[in-house]
Order: sequence, then structure tokens, then C-alpha cells
Amino acid sequence: MIKFTNVDKIYNDGNKSLDNINLGIKQGEFVFLVGPSGAGKSTLFKLLTREEKISAGRLSVVGQEITKIKPNKIHKYRRHLGIVFQDFKLLKEKTVFENVEIAMRVVGANPKDIRPRVLEILHKVGIADKHNKYPSELSGGECQRVCIARAIVNKPAIIIADECTGNLDIYNSIGILNILNDINAEGVTVIMATHDIEILKLFPKRVIEIQKGKIVKDTKRDLYEINV
Ligand code: ADP
Ligand code: ADP
Repeated sequence: MIKFTNVDKIYNDGNKSLDNINLGIKQGEFVFLVGPSGAGKSTLFKLLTREEKISAGRLSVVGQEITKIKPNKIHKYRRHLGIVFQDFKLLKEKTVFENVEIAMRVVGANPKDIRPRVLEILHKVGIADKHNKYPSELSGGECQRVCIARAIVNKPAIIIADECTGNLDIYNSIGILNILNDINAEGVTVIMATHDIEILKLFPKRVIEIQKGKIVKDTKRDLYEINV
């Protein structure tokens, strides 16, 4: 589903932000990406979303060689991805319902499918009762649920979540992880960057650790033991 082969990323300043990344992620996997700030986690995500181009190597995602996607096809490629942001990026002047609805409109969904699908998804993430509220009227945990709803409404193959519990307390974080777990159980690949040790302990998943642009650990062990 995702395959990095000898991938480097060098920004214009000449520094190697990713250095010879070799990584395969299968469909339906749930992967945590960990590592200190500046390690290259966001850069790795930006290569997947094609916001940034690889500098060397090969990267294939959902069967497509990512360097070969033409600029006018990138938006279509991105439909395979659902992106969950730490800072939500919700539209302030739109309601919960509208924030999710708009994601379906931009991909040209059949108008008669939109309302039932949006309500179904809001229900799934546990926020259907707030569908008429504005983001400013919601807690951080609720905003993140809306953000997840928006990311999954078009049924992406891969969810990319960059520090998506970074602004939440542990109870809300667990709530978000449970939702991601449920989505993953339906076959969606989930890749989540996190600093949250508690979450890593509570949700034993594959953990990939990067430091200074290199993968230093990749475990599929049942339980991730934290090196203190
Ligand atoms: P996070 O650690 O939460 O992923 P960022 O991705 O915003 O935070 O930034 C991580 C590191 O990348 C920081 O050290 C930041 O200064 C650096 N960085 C981010 N964007 C740029 C940029 N455009 N040019 C140079 N450095 C950047
Ligand atoms: P993380 O998400 O793990 O905090 P990043 O991927 O943001 O790490 O950053 C990895 C390295 O790449 C850092 O050294 C950062 O300063 C650098 N970097 C990130 N974005 C840019 C950019 N746009 N231009 C130059 N350097 C960048």
C-alpha cells in the first residue's frame, strides 16, 4: 500500500531531512510514527500527501509511483488519503455538518448521498447531536472528532494523523484513538505521528521511530516497551 525505497528528502537549504528511508506499510495496518521534534515525521507525511517531492529513491502509494503523478492529477490522488490535523483546520464560519459536507461537495459526490452520509459519519464519531454547532462552541476533543469525520467521509484508503491528540487530554485522546481503531478495523490503513507515551502503551501497535531523518526502530511486537 505504501512503499518507500531508499527515499531521501533534501530541502532547499541542503539538509537531509529524510535519509535513505526504506519502509513498507500494508493495507489495514495501524502504525505509530514517533521521534523527537525535527526528526522528519511531518516531512514523511508531506511526501505521502505530495506537498513535497522526494529528492531521491522511490515512493509508491496505493499502487501509484508518486513522482509520476502529474500536477493536475494530484488532487485526485489525494482522495485516497484522509488527513487529520493537530490544529483541526475547521472552517470557523461553518457548522459541524457543513464542515464535513463540504469535503463531499468538493469531490463531486452525488447531492442526494451527502446528507445521509454526513449524518452517518457524525454519528460514528459520536458528535451527531452537535451537528448544528460551530467549531467555537466545541471542545478540543469534539473538534478533533469533526476533523476525523471530515477525513473519513469520502472513504479514503489511508488516514494520516499528525499529532492529532497533541492538544487533547488523555481521556479525549483515548476517545480519538478508539475511533481510529474502529476505522482501522474496517480495513483503512492508519498512520499516526505522536509524542504521547501513554497512548503508545494503551494501544499496542507497530511503532516506527525516526531520528534525524533515519528509521532507528520498527517494531511489530505486541507490546511496545518504552525505553526510559
Ligand atoms: P512539529 O515538530 O510539531 O512537527 P513543525 O513541523 O512545525 O513542528 O516544525 C518542525 C521543525 O521543522 C522545526 O524545527 C521548524 O523550525 C522546522 N521547519 C518547519 N517548517 C520549516 C521551514 N519552512 N523552513 C525551515 N524549517 C522549518
Ligand atoms: P518532525 O515533524 O519530526 O518534527 P519535520 O519533518 O518537521 O520533523 O522536520 C525535519 C527536518 O526538516 C528538520 O530539521 C526541519 O528543520 C527540516 N524542515 C522541515 N520543513 C522544512 C522546510 N520546508 N525547509 C527546510 N527545512 C525543513
